[in-house]
Amino acid sequence: MENGQYPIARKVARAQRIMNAYQALLQSVGDTQTLVVTVNRRLARHLHERYAQMRQIQGDSVWETPRILPQNAWLETLWRELEERDGIQAQAVGLPLLLNASRESLAWEGVIAAHQSRYPLLKPAVAARGVMRAWGLLRQWRRSLDDLTGYDEPDVLAFRFWAAEFDALCAERGWLPSAALADELAGRITPPMLPKRLILAGFDQLTPQMQGFYFETLTALGVVVETWRADALADAQARCIPCSGLEAELRAALQWTRRTLLDNPAARIGIAAPNLPAIAEPLRRLSWEILRPHSRYEGVDPADAPLNISAGRPLSDYPAAHDALLGLRLCFGDASIARVGAFLRSPFLPGGLREAERRALLDARLRRLGRRAMRPDGLLRALSDGAGFAPASCPQLHERFGAALQAEEMGGLRQTRRPSAWAGVFSRTLARLGWPGDDRSLDSAEHQTVTAWGQCLSAMGALDDVSGAVDLHTALSQLTRLANERDFQPDGGLAQAQAMGLLEAAGEQFDALWIVGMIDEAWPPPPDPNPYLPLTLQRQWEMPRASAARERDYAEVITQRLLTCAPQVVVSWSVSEEDRPLRVSPLVAHLALEDADADADAPDVERYLGAPLESFEDMQAPAFDAQLNAPGGAGLFQSQSQCPFQAFARYRLRAESLEEPGSGPDARRRGQFAHRALDRFWRVTRDSAGLAALNDVALLERIVVCVGEVLAESLESGEDAAWWEAVTDLERGRLIHLLRNWLDGERQRMEPFTVTGLELPLTLQVGPLNVRARLDRVDRLDGDEALVIDYKTGLSSPAGWFGPRPADPQLPLYAAFAHELGPICGAAFGQLRPGNERFQAILTHSDAIPGGKALEQTQYSERAESWQAQLQAWRDVLIRLADAFASGAAAVDPIKPSACLYCGLQTLCRVDQLRGADAASAEQEDGDGV
Ligand code: SF4
Repeated sequence: MENGQYPIARKVARAQRIMNAYQALLQSVGDTQTLVVTVNRRLARHLHERYAQMRQIQGDSVWETPRILPQNAWLETLWRELEERDGIQAQAVGLPLLLNASRESLAWEGVIAAHQSRYPLLKPAVAARGVMRAWGLLRQWRRSLDDLTGYDEPDVLAFRFWAAEFDALCAERGWLPSAALADELAGRITPPMLPKRLILAGFDQLTPQMQGFYFETLTALGVVVETWRADALADAQARCIPCSGLEAELRAALQWTRRTLLDNPAARIGIAAPNLPAIAEPLRRLSWEILRPHSRYEGVDPADAPLNISAGRPLSDYPAAHDALLGLRLCFGDASIARVGAFLRSPFLPGGLREAERRALLDARLRRLGRRAMRPDGLLRALSDGAGFAPASCPQLHERFGAALQAEEMGGLRQTRRPSAWAGVFSRTLARLGWPGDDRSLDSAEHQTVTAWGQCLSAMGALDDVSGAVDLHTALSQLTRLANERDFQPDGGLAQAQAMGLLEAAGEQFDALWIVGMIDEAWPPPPDPNPYLPLTLQRQWEMPRASAARERDYAEVITQRLLTCAPQVVVSWSVSEEDRPLRVSPLVAHLALEDADADADAPDVERYLGAPLESFEDMQAPAFDAQLNAPGGAGLFQSQSQCPFQAFARYRLRAESLEEPGSGPDARRRGQFAHRALDRFWRVTRDSAGLAALNDVALLERIVVCVGEVLAESLESGEDAAWWEAVTDLERGRLIHLLRNWLDGERQRMEPFTVTGLELPLTLQVGPLNVRARLDRVDRLDGDEALVIDYKTGLSSPAGWFGPRPADPQLPLYAAFAHELGPICGAAFGQLRPGNERFQAILTHSDAIPGGKALEQTQYSERAESWQAQLQAWRDVLIRLADAFASGAAAVDPIKPSACLYCGLQTLCRVDQLRGADAASAEQEDGDGV
């Protein structure tokens, strides 16, 4: 190697050797009378690239596109030629209509649904896919329904019935399922439509149907049919590497890819896997991190991926298409609050950037209101008035959403229409809504997604003759299904490496190939016979996935081909998965084992960026202006103590995690209900004498009144009122029971008390901070000393009051700094937890309250010797926390891992990256965080 580069001579030699393997085939495709039919699209594309390379080496700059087509595309081309030849007479000459996969699946579903009473099924759509495959297998293996006579398994009988109905329907409507295309072509094609020579490239086996088509039909019409496969490389070297797990395996493969490309940038690298769809997402993520490390620091087009993964995703998973579906659902019906939130945050709507903050505020506002779902008119109102919070109003989206809702055709939504007509309604609705947005330019991947979405809408038109007129709900389901079933992958720039399934890889040659995931469960693939055909027949006919023996034999051929399709082949497997040991595939167990290459070197970001990277730790925010009141009251001290960054983010950046709407009031709201009901109770009852004067009946009556008032106040106005009423009825019972138990406990208090403060606002001076606090309750005891009480609906313990970073410093704050209350004799949690209602208190004298302890009786290791000394210790700790907050201390430093569990700021503080993802999960598994 010279200067880190691969010697030119070796590169040329290697390219030449690979090219030689294709030479004979490529030489012949320049002949216009020759057609190459490939087993899949990947091989066709690859041969086109090789051909262009060959012509360039030969010094050509212009050439005719060679005739290389994947098999399915060629058959469809022949059919189109027939349609064009017969033109308007096509129907007259009995040319049937070729069904695409969506139409065919819908037709099967219709047949199954029409006979639900005879063969009831929960999911006709799922059954339709299996039945369609069974019908296709029969045609491809040149078998008929008569061959199934005598087999009376329920699924086989159902299939025979549905298939007969489907055949009759196709005959009546003049439909041609794609699995019958070759048979139909065989009776219609003529020599002028055919090449003189046809080369079948990359086929390991042909179905009996295609065997007959090529070697009987075409040869009878004078076509010379040949087969071609890339030769095995005699000097190929293969080795096997065990890895600790999938992530390690993918990392090893990608780091090896990176090193190989650095060594030889022109190399053609393959990564193959028996289960590519299952690993596609982690592979995609890691490929950016390892092959394009600079993408973290520079804007890159997502379509310009470093690894071309031959596993598309459903179109509906792509954000632009996802948001189009979402927009339609919101225009045409109720939507959950989570969907409303996603709609509001969409960048594919007009003003998505300009109004982003308002829309985010509205999302947070709607979640806080506790709504589960919204109707379109409710959402339109919320867009106008910000759901009662003016800064959250969204005038631009209001205008566009209003325009979409007020369109004339909204009046006709109850009609049934053909899918093509619904496609028009959907398209116009999205246009009025302003999808795909107007305040930023789409990147290449988004452009392609928008185009694919348009094709999806057009495909609805093809469903007209299959489904007939349908209602809005069905039409939206059809569109959703088309978007779900459309396997989509945006074209990008020329990727440096290719990832593909094993069958795809087996037809090609590479400069280097890494095969991941070679465990015995995945390769050979386990048998998976079709449930609608008799198993004995599938085995007898040697259908795919019918038996373990067939799969093993087939996989052996493929494996042998893969191990000799590149000068160097690496096979890897994971030795375990979540503590479950895994075994290497027996088909590669003979290979020499090697350890994964030590690859301590990080991806060379600086080399890609062309500039040195600097890093620095930023734990210091600007100092807080002490003239201002401290934000957040006592919660600020808790956050500062739990984690300085949490306090900075929550109280200076005002960052909060969004609430997750659930069914019914969440724990926070239920806690508020209990607080408010007790607040009302004590405003009327006032003291221990007032409580003692109530007999059981009177006490219950007062509780019922207080709870009723609180719940009446909380009733939502507008569309959710009926639902809230039902929910609060349930809540009423819970609260009455809770308050009854709690007040029974208060009746046990030996020392008389007067409730002198409820929701008491105080301003506390803590070091440099002015802190506004609101105390749940202050009781004045017999000696005129104050007891501060804080209600808690969860488990609580005074253990969190002690130490240099107290986990729960709220009551220490009140006890130590609420000087205007006079002498304070103690602090108490009022634990309002159903079944566990009690005080948890520390006082100067333990008999003041049930559950109270004198400080000296407690075992907390960090407590002071006396109550007065403890108050001073709390002052010192809290002033230190106040100083740290005011100075801008903002280190990501959780007091313990469990502090992060319910914090919700992980995406902002990136604590997982700081700790390392593995360390974080280990802590949780140890139970440390629970
Ligand atoms: S998630 Fe953890 S580290 Fe991050 S701010 Fe919250 S407590 Fe601190």
